Amino acid sequence: MGSGTAVEWLAPSSLEEALALRASRGADTTVVAGGSFLAILMNQGFVQPTSLLSLGGVGELRGIAVVDGELRLGAMVRHRDVERDPVIRRDWPVLSLGFGLVASPRVRNQATVGGVLADADYASDPPAVLCAVGARAVLRSPRGERQVPIDELILGFYETCIAEDELLTEVRVPAVLGPAVYRKFRSRSSEDRPCVAVAAARSADRLRVVVGACADVPQHYPDVCAKGSEGPIDAAVAREIGSAYAQRMAPLSDSRGSAEYRRRVVAVEVRRAVEMLGSDSVGNGGGRRGAGANR
Ligand SMILES: Cc1cc2nc3c(=O)[nH]c(=O)nc-3n(C[C@H](O)[C@H](O)[C@H](O)COP(=O)(O)OP(=O)(O)OC[C@H]3O[C@@H](n4cnc5c(N)ncnc54)[C@H](O)[C@@H]3O)c2cc1C
Repeated sequence: MGSGTAVEWLAPSSLEEALALRASRGADTTVVAGGSFLAILMNQGFVQPTSLLSLGGVGELRGIAVVDGELRLGAMVRHRDVERDPVIRRDWPVLSLGFGLVASPRVRNQATVGGVLADADYASDPPAVLCAVGARAVLRSPRGERQVPIDELILGFYETCIAEDELLTEVRVPAVLGPAVYRKFRSRSSEDRPCVAVAAARSADRLRVVVGACADVPQHYPDVCAKGSEGPIDAAVAREIGSAYAQRMAPLSDSRGSAEYRRRVVAVEVRRAVEMLGSDSVGNGGGRRGAGANR
């Protein structure tokens, strides 16, 4: 942004006002939530908005509630809130732990649930976790509301299905009815984004393993997971699923690791995640070993 260029700052104080502004301005204004991603894009000159629509004053987007056993997270709930909320820590601990592994407290105090999904960065932690536990994003516009599973929300690198007149207003997370784990493998530093992210959850009849940070969108293979959906999970099943994920995937290469390196890490981290699900020490995401990072 050149010096002296004025940027319009739209600051609605209600959701209704925010939705009306979003619908009337469309692509002419850029939504800003915590601003942690957007500020980098602006500082580096990748985007040069002339108008910003801030959600910071919209109180309706900050709620954390449980309705009919389902967790509802407002889009402006910060990562740090998910990490520390006592109800989430007790009943959705895999979310607390997954969001709590993002970057540093400084970033987690700024970044929001809506922002991390809307920016659709392939190397974020929360999308894999939310996908594994079957979460849905609520998208609203004056036309109405729709609910989209996380794996249908994110379409590609930095691309979502959020329409120009829509806001992501809420994320809904069903009750986690079995063990759930999140493993973050970092290859460079302790505050880095994941090189490989593995989230896994098992209910009475379904195993869901989601690998993030290795492709444009989170990867999961229901046919492979079918091997671990019923009966006990033992070391052989975990190894088989880890190997199958590694073979099936076409990992990307970036500064966090080459495709071949990632493939090997995927085999190990998926195996470990599935083994953890079969272990007595992991509860519904909250067991002593319910989540973790390699450093
Ligand atoms: C130093 C640093 C380290 C980081 N490390 C990690 C990490 O380890 N793991 C990780 O997962 N992430 C990491 N991040 C990313 C961080 O989590 C994201 O920057 C953050 O999630 C974006 O959230 P925000 O609320 O700041 O979004 P913003 O920057 O405000 O917005 C991001 C994008 O989403 C759009 N948007 C925001 N909210 C909405 C909405 N409600 N509806 C529609 N569109 C919306 C905006 O227009 C913008 O395009 C890191 C970031 C930084 C700065």
